[in-house]
Amino acid sequence: MRIQSLAVEAALRSLNSTPGGLTATEAARRLLEYGPNRVERVAAAPLLHRLGREFTHFFALVLWAAAVLALSAEYFQPGEGMGRLGIAIVGVIVVNGLFSFWQEYKAERALAALRQLLPPKVTVWRDGAATQRAADLLVPGDVVSLDEGDLVPADCRVIDSLGLRVNTATVTGESRPRACEAAPSQEESPLFARNLLLAGTAVVSGQGRAVVFATGMRTEFGRIAHLTQSAGEAVSPLQREIVRLSRLVAVLACGLGVLFFSIGHALGMPFWANLLFAIGIIVANVPEGLAPTVTLALAMATQRMARRNALVRHLPAVEALGAATVICCDKTGTLTQNRMAVRRVWVAGALHAADALPSTPMAREALQALGSNAAICHNLAPNVSGGEAQGDPMEVALAAFGGTIVGRGELMHRIDEIPFDSDRKRMSVICDSHEGARLFCKGAPETVMPCCNRAMTAQGVVELDDALRTRLLAALEAMTDAGLRVLAFAHRSLRSGTGWAARDESGLVLSGLIGLEDPPRPQVPAAIARCADAGIRVIMITGDHSHTALAIAREIGLVKSGAPAVVSGDSLRRMSETQLQIALDAREILFARVAAEQKMRIVEALQRKGEVVAVTGDGVNDAPALKVADIGIAMGRTGTDVAKAAADVVLLDDNFSTIVDAIEEGRAVFDNIRKFLTYILSSNIPEIVPYLAYVLFRIPLPLTIIQILAVDLGTDILPALALGAEKPDPDVMRRPPRPRGEHLLSWGLLARAYLFLGLFEAAAAMSVFFLVLGDGGWQYGELPGATDPDYLRATTACLAAIVAMQVMNLFLCRHPTRSSLSPALARNPLLWAGIATEGALILFIVYTPLGNWLFGALPLALEPWLYVLPFALAMWLADELRKLWLRHRARRRGGSGQG
Ligand code: ATP
Repeated sequence: MRIQSLAVEAALRSLNSTPGGLTATEAARRLLEYGPNRVERVAAAPLLHRLGREFTHFFALVLWAAAVLALSAEYFQPGEGMGRLGIAIVGVIVVNGLFSFWQEYKAERALAALRQLLPPKVTVWRDGAATQRAADLLVPGDVVSLDEGDLVPADCRVIDSLGLRVNTATVTGESRPRACEAAPSQEESPLFARNLLLAGTAVVSGQGRAVVFATGMRTEFGRIAHLTQSAGEAVSPLQREIVRLSRLVAVLACGLGVLFFSIGHALGMPFWANLLFAIGIIVANVPEGLAPTVTLALAMATQRMARRNALVRHLPAVEALGAATVICCDKTGTLTQNRMAVRRVWVAGALHAADALPSTPMAREALQALGSNAAICHNLAPNVSGGEAQGDPMEVALAAFGGTIVGRGELMHRIDEIPFDSDRKRMSVICDSHEGARLFCKGAPETVMPCCNRAMTAQGVVELDDALRTRLLAALEAMTDAGLRVLAFAHRSLRSGTGWAARDESGLVLSGLIGLEDPPRPQVPAAIARCADAGIRVIMITGDHSHTALAIAREIGLVKSGAPAVVSGDSLRRMSETQLQIALDAREILFARVAAEQKMRIVEALQRKGEVVAVTGDGVNDAPALKVADIGIAMGRTGTDVAKAAADVVLLDDNFSTIVDAIEEGRAVFDNIRKFLTYILSSNIPEIVPYLAYVLFRIPLPLTIIQILAVDLGTDILPALALGAEKPDPDVMRRPPRPRGEHLLSWGLLARAYLFLGLFEAAAAMSVFFLVLGDGGWQYGELPGATDPDYLRATTACLAAIVAMQVMNLFLCRHPTRSSLSPALARNPLLWAGIATEGALILFIVYTPLGNWLFGALPLALEPWLYVLPFALAMWLADELRKLWLRHRARRRGGSGQG
């Protein structure tokens, strides 16, 4: 029998379950039998295949070609050392491939570990009580409670429903929400039965309970998972740019190789020596290992962000965060603490402080109505755990307030609900009482008051005439101006006969208004000030009243002027696209009483103005805006599953200042990648210059290809990684956002690396080479043999000089304009680790027999090292002076001294 065609009791019985769920022991037993409720990821590609890719990508192919050339050279002209070179290049491809694979793997693991930080939770009934459990632990027979915004965790059969509607688009492709109910269904297909909820679909409104009948790979979603799972992580524009850039450089390198080969040929160089030279040029220029280093830098940034409570779900968000120019932020819970307390109450015709409520008989009656309304009318019946109410803080505050007035245990039985949505801004519940069915409504005063024609006052229930409305509005204004969030409460009896089926929210009696305080988070004013310094606009978009929004905005320093633009949801609806874009030009603007759906319009209008927009959201209706925005940010604590699934970043603490921290990290990543680009590119020049000198001036080759590889793929790698892990600079949030189209590789960066730092390094390398060669008695015009010890010592000195200069360069690359001695540069232990490995590697090459054999080196005396010192100091001094001049120029222009 299909489970959808069974009645509720029979369905529960067929799964050996009860309305109160399974016992904990039975659930544990079933978990062993059925396994965890997990849709296993279809492996993106077999490991071996991915490893293979590391050896066949574009750079690897260039290097393979070089290896083949060298090996064939050995074949045609043995004894020139080409064979060893060929083998060395193959070794490089292998080492580089393995290293890239390890980096990619590490980056992937880092992202996977982040996902584990936010395991989906469900409310499941065990031993007759509701508890929160990880969705993985669900077993067939479990009874789960579902609420608006939840993702359905497994395939379930509905057992009761209050206005439950689900969006089944992920499974059926149908995007219109479907109502769900507990009644048996004759529908054959589980995809369309109205009493089945399928894993991966989303509850868009209402609430209900359901019994699980299939978990993990046995769910409909599990079955189609291999079709729907995306092939892998999205590639960020930055990564794409790096790949493009590296390809370009590789093509250039090949072009240069061919060009110099032709020049050498024209100058009459022997063929094989000339070929060796061309290969050297290519290998020196190919930026091996750049792409995986960028991926790892991004992944390390996501870990730093996670430590600061921002969980990045998609890698591209890291750099988008760094470029953000506008944050659209809602108020409740993000800017404020979401810790609500009732402060003021309008009841029996007057406004009172919550701790000084009137006690005349009439007032008591009105308060009684208000109190029971507040206690009954909460959206989620707050779960009571350990005597503490849990749930939406506003509901908890209202329930507590109501409870103190009417006393606990006097609550009526709820039989139906007209749910809250941000469009209607009110909700009603229908209860069964001894006087018959009654409807209790609460919501934003503007939407509740028009439904009322009477009100409870000190004189009893009276007509809600204009005079009374005016008094009510004055009370409303007084409360909202004080930053309180105000709710109106109303009720009425439902005539027997029509019963609750009427679900009619008109002709209500207004019981009163309640003003709740929700203080701003203490860190928010400082975070807002940081945004202002960083050139990031913050726009509050709230569903709350405009006066409340404005009062809070002033309190946190978001609004400073006397007349900010305040746009209401209604006026937004009447605005054309152009009008909205013009409105957004206002220096200070906030949106109040907007529906979640309107957020997307605002985001799109901002994007059309060229802004990079981060937007926060927590509800189901926020999902479209989260998707459209450059950075969708969901709330980790109060956010619904649907919002989290649509977001790029999840805030573990729901705190606005965390967004600002994440932006800081995002900016730092971009800076760091530039730092290590400068570092890596600088060493290209001392690698190329020896070849140019070799071919143009007929000198012995100062640096062999294997030695070039020792720098590019050995000594440079870890220091470059250390630059990728630098902490954000203190000034990073004191400059405007990076322009959207700004490229990583600017002319300034290239000039600094190639024409400044690189030239110093080349001068050092060449001078030390000649000094050591000269010490051995070399005269210009002589070409020593490839195994001449004086020559070998000179090439070793050239290599050692490049490495020593790169150690100095590491300190210079830490900041484009800040002095390398500045105390503002944060400690970076990785830097020292990088230098230590760099040192160990060069000592290994120079002073061990194995290193000597592998890299064609010979041990050096102390002098060659000392020869490098003046060059290193000169480079340091010149760069410090350059930075000083840049800082001075920036100060004169009123900038922050950043380059
Ligand atoms: P923000 O958008 O900044 O989080 P918000 O929580 O006020 O602010 P919404 O959730 O869209 O935004 O709520 C809009 C208005 O609807 C609230 O100001 C309040 O007056 C009313 N409201 C909110 N929640 C409820 C509820 N559970 N029941 C009845 N009315 C509600």
